[in-house]
Amino acid sequence: RGKWAKAIAILKELEEKCATPTAKLRQVADAMTVEMHAGLASEGGSKLKMLITYVDNLPTGDEKGLFYALDLGGTNFRVLRIHLGGKENRVIKKEFEELSIPRHLMVGSSEALFDFIATALANFVAKEDEDSRPLPGRQRELGFTFSFPVRQLSVASGTLIKWTKGFSIEETVGQDIVGELTKAMERVGLDMRVAALVNDTVGTLAGGRYENPDVVAAVILGTGTNAAYVERAHAIPKWHGLLPNSGEMVINMEWGSFRSSHLPLTEYDQSLDADSLNPGEQIFEKTISGMYLGEIVRRVLCRMAEEAEFFGDVVPPKLQKPFTLRTPDMSAMHHDTSPDLKVVGSKLKDILEIPNSSLKVRKVIVEVCDIVASRGARLSAAGILGILKKLGRDTPKEGEKQKSVIAMDGGLFEHYTKFRNSMNGALQELLGDVHETVSVVLSNDGSGLGAALIAAANSQYF
Ligand code: ADP
Ligand code: MG
Repeated sequence: RGKWAKAIAILKELEEKCATPTAKLRQVADAMTVEMHAGLASEGGSKLKMLITYVDNLPTGDEKGLFYALDLGGTNFRVLRIHLGGKENRVIKKEFEELSIPRHLMVGSSEALFDFIATALANFVAKEDEDSRPLPGRQRELGFTFSFPVRQLSVASGTLIKWTKGFSIEETVGQDIVGELTKAMERVGLDMRVAALVNDTVGTLAGGRYENPDVVAAVILGTGTNAAYVERAHAIPKWHGLLPNSGEMVINMEWGSFRSSHLPLTEYDQSLDADSLNPGEQIFEKTISGMYLGEIVRRVLCRMAEEAEFFGDVVPPKLQKPFTLRTPDMSAMHHDTSPDLKVVGSKLKDILEIPNSSLKVRKVIVEVCDIVASRGARLSAAGILGILKKLGRDTPKEGEKQKSVIAMDGGLFEHYTKFRNSMNGALQELLGDVHETVSVVLSNDGSGLGAALIAAANSQYF
């Protein structure tokens, strides 16, 4: 009796601490806009790095030729070959291969990681047939999507600021990522030139713009989270270079590192952060993204087990192990519509080795998933509102039919339906009538196409 009441008290406390009423989301959005200004004003002026990407032209549709793309960003890693046919023919052919990155390489040496990547690329190239080879005498060219914070030195070079999302290889920090890849390609005997180094948000923005001219920003909700958008070059005080002809510059916000006193954080977020590979960093990411949502739920359930004997008089050992409950499993439990919540039951049994759970326990677990997912989803919507505010696109424009499209990518948004619905709902709540002019479109793997398009724009042959 008393134990059950304790479990419910933990649930209610979670619900209160994670609450994101509209007013709070507005505060978060305003804080995001303020930090965007600060990050653009000076280097180190904000938690938001607001990185200059050197991408000052987005695709026009005229891009032509055969280009490669590499996407390194989290759990998976892709190699692509894209044949661009210009305005008439668009994307003639797109082929790709996907591999998962062995865990030990995420925390090993720089050389081992880049050798693995270069080898995968060399194998991909080795398998290509006659008609997908570059023209005689021409070097293969690559757009490298690298989804970690990079201080760009040019469109095709940049140094790693820090690793995120479970990667941790100290020696790579401060190194030129293109240099690292180029050396590895030489080691494996692959002749290829890196024509562009882009963040996945920037790739998604470029890929999105190629498909739809109203795309103004891109957001990633996958293992991690981040956003990029098109800024007016003269609104970037920290940019001392020449103003680009287009008058525009793509900014990689690195919004995962956003933090604000307005964020609704809990003891679970604090302990997750303290135990992470990067304590004190990526706070927004740690409340929103796929790498962490399941882990937050696990921490809540763990406390219920410890303080309220939620799963009986012993705390299930598996439940005490960090990252055993992954976000896709959380999502499966959250979407369970069976009357006896049998998906929840089987996840508990298979993953956490909790064999006999009662229906009322299962119901509480679904509640926990709902609270954690909807906080993340609604905060993502607040982030998007922050960008729209910065662009002046959050209010109706007199006599103008202005459309704003956000290109979205990432497994969390794509597969976690309740998360996606909650995010869209919050955006509608925040935008009111303007919501009709704003849309979020899934740009599935737009970043690979985008990287190839940016490589094309920076090809040595044009
Ligand atoms: P990455 O972000 O690593 O480049 P993705 O965009 O494919 O890769 O996102 C993968 C992430 O998406 C996973 O780490 C996971 O957190 C989340 N994800 C994948 N499938 C699901 C699912 N069915 N439900 C919820 N989240 C999912
Ligand atoms: Mg990705």
